[in-house]
Amino acid sequence: MEKELEQLRRQPLLPPRRAGALPGGYMGRILRVDLTAGTTKDENLPGPEVLRKWPGGQGLAQAILIRELPAGVTPFSPENRIVFMTGPLTGTGKTPGGAAYTVVTLSNITGFGRGERGTAVSSSGMGHWGSYLKFAGYDGIIVSGASTQPVYLWINNGRAEIREASKIWGRDTHETIEWIKRDLNQPEASVACIGPAGESLVRAAMILNDHNHSASHGGGAIMGSKKLKAIAVHGTKRVPVKDAARLEEAGNSWRSKIRVYEYPKSRCNVGFGAELKTVVNRNFSSTLLDGSEDFDKQQFTPRPCYECNRQCPYDVRLVTGKHAGVTVSLNAGSEHFEGAAFTFGIKGPEVLYLAGVLNRLGIEASHFGCAAGAVFEAYERGLVGREQTGGLELKWGDAAVVETVMNMTARREGWLGNAIADGVMATARAIGGDAARFVPNVKAGAPAMHDWRPYTGIMLGQIVSSGGVKPQFAAYEYRDGAPDLGYPDKTDRDSAAGKAREVLVNGSNRYFCGSAGLCWFAQPINKQGILQDQLNALTAVTGWQDFGIEEALAVGQRVWQLEHILHLRYGWTPEDDLAATGTRLLEPIPDGIFKGFTMAKYLPGLVHDFYRECGWDASSGLPRPETLRRLGMEEFSFAAAQH
Ligand code: SF4
Repeated sequence: MEKELEQLRRQPLLPPRRAGALPGGYMGRILRVDLTAGTTKDENLPGPEVLRKWPGGQGLAQAILIRELPAGVTPFSPENRIVFMTGPLTGTGKTPGGAAYTVVTLSNITGFGRGERGTAVSSSGMGHWGSYLKFAGYDGIIVSGASTQPVYLWINNGRAEIREASKIWGRDTHETIEWIKRDLNQPEASVACIGPAGESLVRAAMILNDHNHSASHGGGAIMGSKKLKAIAVHGTKRVPVKDAARLEEAGNSWRSKIRVYEYPKSRCNVGFGAELKTVVNRNFSSTLLDGSEDFDKQQFTPRPCYECNRQCPYDVRLVTGKHAGVTVSLNAGSEHFEGAAFTFGIKGPEVLYLAGVLNRLGIEASHFGCAAGAVFEAYERGLVGREQTGGLELKWGDAAVVETVMNMTARREGWLGNAIADGVMATARAIGGDAARFVPNVKAGAPAMHDWRPYTGIMLGQIVSSGGVKPQFAAYEYRDGAPDLGYPDKTDRDSAAGKAREVLVNGSNRYFCGSAGLCWFAQPINKQGILQDQLNALTAVTGWQDFGIEEALAVGQRVWQLEHILHLRYGWTPEDDLAATGTRLLEPIPDGIFKGFTMAKYLPGLVHDFYRECGWDASSGLPRPETLRRLGMEEFSFAAAQH
């Protein structure tokens, strides 16, 4: 594959001179930053034909990454790239959810226990940062190299500058954001940064922006390895739009379908687990819905993303409990409740407080909850003692101990901090014995932090996913269907029938969202006509005519295929999809309304079904030539199965 990739590199994706006029929605430039040389330069965005195939987000970023990563590069080596990419709808301001930026890099988490090898990882952040990057004049940033001293990047109205950041090395994410705004004398700047966890190369360190938002799955550690503390963006440019009236109309129709969070009512419960009827409780040893006592006594304030009416992110000022008077910043979902607190048996306002601590330290909650939850269980089983924990007694329900463990992890203190910081499988190895049986993981990464075990399709999505690991490829089995995508009703969660197709269709839709610069949370897919609203908005912005649902799903599928090719290059095999899911996730569910259920009965058949749906060869995992042809990906035909 390396020889063919070398040839591919000879046809640069970012052309010195762009042929053809840009569609609307793009600023036309990518910023290239070499931190070893301390230089920045502008490059051209690809031409219109490439953009229609790879509109932005994960797809365009991966198309850059696969061309630029040299053979044998490891995640923390300076040659690894970290690519930040928006999409054409990011920052137009007339639709909900047009706030996304995506981060793609070589993952430092999913080495499958084979040293420093990794897979590509992609994660998305919302808030204001992606929109402001475009207002500063850029669609994306490619960062390579590594600085010897801490630095931050300042991008303002078409100019980029690498600035000294030694004074804030060691500071948490919120302190960093505020310090940089003061340093720049620009209170309106938007800052994406790392906390102590990213600096310490904690495997699942996040990139946090605008206080409430994060791009997760380990990109923060890659920034830390490059000594890049933050990227601040600001500008007064605006995103060009081909048909403003049509965009307004599409946006209004779309807004009318959005379910808006009501404050405080929507925030006074365990979160999404209430809908799923499960939460992660004591390292997946219980699913019972417990923990949100007194949430209704706290003060919630929405902190909306750029021009989005859904109001997912929020700050909460704690009014009762030990931390009364503290304000924490939280994002849309409730995974952080489960990873930061419920999994340790913690309840009440301390749940909110601990979620806020992880946000400031910059650690992904699912990773922390799975690795640290396993150590708590090991302590209970007598496999870990005080000599390893630095004298801490790891008892379920002790919030002060959990906070101490969070801080030890972020700064890699002692056996305990290092074990958790090195990832869930490293934690299992550090514990020893049969710990691998109760450390929840998929391909050495943490699973998503709701308890999805009763949901066959979503579990399949996690089992075949990568980079982190998140259910990018969820299915329609816990709420309503997705009428625009051919699923008029909710599907059966306890059935293998049609699940592989469902996961592929939903995953492709989500990758399309990311490629267009959209937030999935702003896509109420159970509402008929929502996808058409989005496509109308895309046409209004870009000028692309006849861009239908089929083309949107093809965009998403291309992302999927390219990510898969990248993984194959780094040693991925079908065996990793078949046998790299931790036992804890496939054990019968211990209690609650799903007691006794396991989707393991559908394996390995479902994984084989999925390979068939994706057009991959079952034994080698390689895409079939006709799959790549159908998607117009002939330039990658060298990666196809040879029969
Ligand atoms: S749907 Fe929620 S998370 Fe997504 S952009 Fe809107 S407010 Fe932000």
